[in-house]
Amino acid sequence: MKQFDIVIAGGAMAGMTLALAISKRSAHSLSIAVVEPYQVDYNAHPGFDSRSIALSLGTISILKQFDLWEQMSEFATAIKHIHVSDRGHVGATEIDRQEVGADALGYVVELNDVGHYYNNKVSQHKQIQILCPAQVKHIERLQSEVHITLNDGQLLAGKLLVAADGSMSTCCELLGVEQDLHDFKQVAVTANIKVAQAHQGRAFERFTSSGPIALLPMREQRMSLVWCLEPDQAEKTMSLGDAKFKESLQSAFGWRLGEFEAVGNRSCYPLQQSYRQQNTSHRFAIVGNAAQALHPIAGQGFNLGIRDIATLTESILTEIDDPGAYSVLSQYKHRRDQDRSMTASLTSSLVHIFSNDYPTLRVARNLGLMAVDNVSMLKAPLLIRTLGLVAR
Ligand SMILES: Cc1cc2nc3c(=O)[nH]c(=O)nc-3n(C[C@H](O)[C@H](O)[C@H](O)COP(=O)(O)OP(=O)(O)OC[C@H]3O[C@@H](n4cnc5c(N)ncnc54)[C@H](O)[C@@H]3O)c2cc1C
Repeated sequence: MKQFDIVIAGGAMAGMTLALAISKRSAHSLSIAVVEPYQVDYNAHPGFDSRSIALSLGTISILKQFDLWEQMSEFATAIKHIHVSDRGHVGATEIDRQEVGADALGYVVELNDVGHYYNNKVSQHKQIQILCPAQVKHIERLQSEVHITLNDGQLLAGKLLVAADGSMSTCCELLGVEQDLHDFKQVAVTANIKVAQAHQGRAFERFTSSGPIALLPMREQRMSLVWCLEPDQAEKTMSLGDAKFKESLQSAFGWRLGEFEAVGNRSCYPLQQSYRQQNTSHRFAIVGNAAQALHPIAGQGFNLGIRDIATLTESILTEIDDPGAYSVLSQYKHRRDQDRSMTASLTSSLVHIFSNDYPTLRVARNLGLMAVDNVSMLKAPLLIRTLGLVAR
């Protein structure tokens, strides 16, 4: 049996960030295993795929504490301005970096680039061992440790097991941790798009009758598209040829960025909100999408997940000799409850307000967008969560 202080199931954004964070903050004194079924080099990795995500300022500040931002910034694109609008209606709101007195409102990274960077970084840490390809198959908890059996027969022992294995977490299932699920009956279609006009660091979110469209600025003048559609519309959209797809996107989004010139490979993600009330149990903690997975409408998924990671790391440091001790886990649980539930409910309310085309809701949301734009007191709370400047 291989002995570790901490075993992390899942080596994507949450699992790898956590391993590197604990390693850095504990001055490399804890031994860590990361169990992951997929290698980054193959495009099949579900967590380090061709998606791009927006990192908030709060996330950047956490990444800096873990010494992860300097190198990541080399392949990140700054968001300098955000434009939110409702197709065919007057309401629109704009947020500029000058309003918050920062160089950027956030940054966009391609997950596949992050995967390669993390892999390279982890290989320089002797006390982090990546067990890949492998997956957790069986868990047995004793008083002072947890035993984990992998699908290839390896046996691991740790003082703490962390589930970072995504929304369909096998670890949570094996330990019977319940999950609340809400199906939004929407699918996110993603692709990288080449646009005629320089994006100049502008990000766009446009609410249309078929669902929200987000375009984030990327390197090489590309933009990352997330287009949320009802499942049958998504299926049709996925089956269109590139020319028809561009035409359909152009008609839904408009001409603010000029012509959409080229479209890369398309992928789709069915959208559900999953939430686990319990994010700990004996010798077990849950982080990232395994704890809560959100609709991408407000780009809050990893920006919330990294706050789990930062808090769990801080809690572990309070009792470094036993990272799975009851006091560590109870501190982690209590410090995360409010932020997790508030961010999840704010995100699902946004989905419902902006995905419906009832006249009253349409008027309300247009008034809402105008009010947010004009009244700084209203804009502030929204801005704080968008920027990820949330107390933990
Ligand atoms: C279209 C889209 C756009 C998004 N945009 C944003 C954004 O702009 N900003 C933002 O913050 N977030 C965004 N998100 C959310 C963000 O991508 C996720 O929150 C984040 O990537 C989740 O990372 P994770 O590591 O928690 O989970 P996952 O990426 O699901 O990784 C789980 C890992 O666990 C592994 N695994 C599974 N089973 C086992 C097992 N039995 N044993 C071991 N390992 C296992 C899997 O192979 C996988 O690598 C977006 C999501 C989508 C779908």
